[in-house]
Amino acid sequence: MDEPAITTDLVLIGGGHSHLFVLGNFAMNPLPGVRLTLVTRDLHTPYSGMLPGYIAGHYDFDDTHIDLPPLAHLAGARVIHDSVTALDADRGRIRFAHRPALDYDLVSINIGSRPTSPLADDDGLQFAVKPVDRFIDC
Ligand SMILES: Cc1cc2nc3c(=O)[nH]c(=O)nc-3n(C[C@H](O)[C@H](O)[C@H](O)COP(=O)(O)OP(=O)(O)OC[C@H]3O[C@@H](n4cnc5c(N)ncnc54)[C@H](O)[C@@H]3O)c2cc1C
Repeated sequence: MDEPAITTDLVLIGGGHSHLFVLGNFAMNPLPGVRLTLVTRDLHTPYSGMLPGYIAGHYDFDDTHIDLPPLAHLAGARVIHDSVTALDADRGRIRFAHRPALDYDLVSINIGSRPTSPLADDDGLQFAVKPVDRFIDC
């Protein structure tokens, strides 16, 4: 049977907690005519609820991180592994750090939070948890 024509380009920016559920839903209930694209700076999403256990050594990296490409594959989404640097909402265009711009019809932005303070304070005793992957590297 022929594939339905693409009528809508839906782009998810961020591969974190929020969009995991969108990908999961698309895997179970694909929308005909919708081309789904996941844009993410990181290919492994840390599950925040297990972060304390990871730091304490109860879990390892694979226990606490979701590998995004296989999930995206199940959802029928293509993956763009890059950082978004700008969004031109008037033209429906996303700009990236390392690749050409991408046009969209609909975009969902869930890129977590990022503190304005430095990741670690001067005495090295306090750390900002966000962004989580940078925190884990501390
Ligand atoms: C220890 C801990 C425990 C928590 N427990 C709970 C809880 O029990 N309940 C609760 O509701 N919340 C909890 N939170 C908060 C929760 O983790 C966040 O609210 C949630 O992660 C935000 O989801 P998100 O999808 O917006 O972003 P995140 O899950 O933070 O993911 C951000 C995504 O965006 C990508 N990204 C970032 N910038 C760019 C860019 N410029 N271009 C492309 N991609 C980008 C990243 O690579 C990542 O994939 C907890 C947080 C922590 C740290």
